[in-house]
Amino acid sequence: MLHDNASSSIAGRERSVQRDLRETVGGGIFAADATGGRIRTISGMDKIMTALSQTDPEAFGILQAESSRQHSTLELIASENHASAAVLEATGSVLTDKYAEGYPGHRYYRGCRQSDRVEQLAIARAKALFGAEHANVQPHCGTSANIAVYMAALDPGDTILGMDLSHGGHLSHGLRLNYSGIYYKAVFYTLDKQTELLDMDAVRDLALKERPKMIIAGASAYPRTIDFEAFGKIAAEAGAYLLSDIAHIAGLVAGAAHPSPVPHSTFVTTTTHKTLRGPRSGIVLCKNEWAKKVDSAVFPGLQGGPFMHQILAKAVAMGEAARPEFTDYAKQVVANAAALAETLMEKGWRLVTGGTDNHLMLVDLRSRNENLTGHVASGALAAARLVANKNVIPFDPRPPMQTSGLRFGTPALTTRGMKETQMTQIGEWIDQILTNHEDEDLIARIGKEVLEMCGVFPVPNQNTRQT
Ligand SMILES: *Cc1c(COP(=O)(O)O)cnc(C)c1O
Repeated sequence: MLHDNASSSIAGRERSVQRDLRETVGGGIFAADATGGRIRTISGMDKIMTALSQTDPEAFGILQAESSRQHSTLELIASENHASAAVLEATGSVLTDKYAEGYPGHRYYRGCRQSDRVEQLAIARAKALFGAEHANVQPHCGTSANIAVYMAALDPGDTILGMDLSHGGHLSHGLRLNYSGIYYKAVFYTLDKQTELLDMDAVRDLALKERPKMIIAGASAYPRTIDFEAFGKIAAEAGAYLLSDIAHIAGLVAGAAHPSPVPHSTFVTTTTHKTLRGPRSGIVLCKNEWAKKVDSAVFPGLQGGPFMHQILAKAVAMGEAARPEFTDYAKQVVANAAALAETLMEKGWRLVTGGTDNHLMLVDLRSRNENLTGHVASGALAAARLVANKNVIPFDPRPPMQTSGLRFGTPALTTRGMKETQMTQIGEWIDQILTNHEDEDLIARIGKEVLEMCGVFPVPNQNTRQT
């Protein structure tokens, strides 16, 4: 009962934050003042989006409010980031209009010369960035990329071995309700109960017992380095293909902050919008011998016309990721995660596996408060403008809509230019809120301080100009 009340009052506070934001978006986009938490104009979004603001004020208003939300909250969701203005411009470009079914040089429609150049650029950049023999840049998202690989290499009913969803895997790795679990026989490896780490001996035993046609390495909520080389050896021994799904860590791999799976894998898939910081999309990488099968699985197997605007935006993002600054960003993402993890652990919050090697961490809320759920905790944080998601932790007794854990990631904060100092501050705010999650005054006070920090570290992308 207590928790119902707590969560409904938190929902109320979230609503009031939303209302505050709405009230601030009358004539432009606003963010916090660097000093006083006052609201000031960052730019007139209507001066840039002249068409939308005039022809569809209703849609424009929603976009303005979202931009304002992003400016005035701190994004701790590990799978999110802030794409650059260049990526957003490519995403919103005239290539939206173009049909280009097929592949460069082999299109079903006329007028595809520039589309060919766009796709060739994206392919070349993907191959160079990840050191892959072949790249397909047409998948609309990470899940489509995975399905394309299954279609290229498997027959319905074949066995796939992936990481259990409740231990950090992804729904496209064999969940019963997903295509991957409906059309293939999915078996799962779990984490070690004691260490909460991947147990490569257990993975090997299971692979030799189940003899899957494909092993899937990669996760959505695993805070440690994944040993793709070990996965590769196990796959070879078990006679299985290895699919390494680097959706979460692609930016770390590109920025040399996580070992690359490419040399050890039959296939590598990724999203482009998480640590890689591009548009919302997907990519498949593989050896040349698989090129034809992968390409025809993506089109015409799975998709129709490619999204040429998204493909251009992927090319732009991979161009950014090839620059030296991106390596600095990737290193800082990891350093920031380590600093945030350190602060939380000093305050007595237990992290799954006792820390992090990458961009994310999982907090076991039971370590300080047996009754606090991820659902209630994330609501209290959101009321203070700290946006994170509830997450099941390994062997979690609570259901996915409640959870005993929270997941925090540092990619978006790092993109805003934050460093270890800010991570320590944010960790202290998180600790105070989780410790006093029903203290509305405290939450309001921290919300103001968060707003000030937002003003000092504005979101660098956005269709906005500083005025
Ligand atoms: C995010 C994610 C995906 C797919 O993401 P989409 O939402 O389909 O783009 C696939 N695999 C893993 C491990 C992920 O974390």
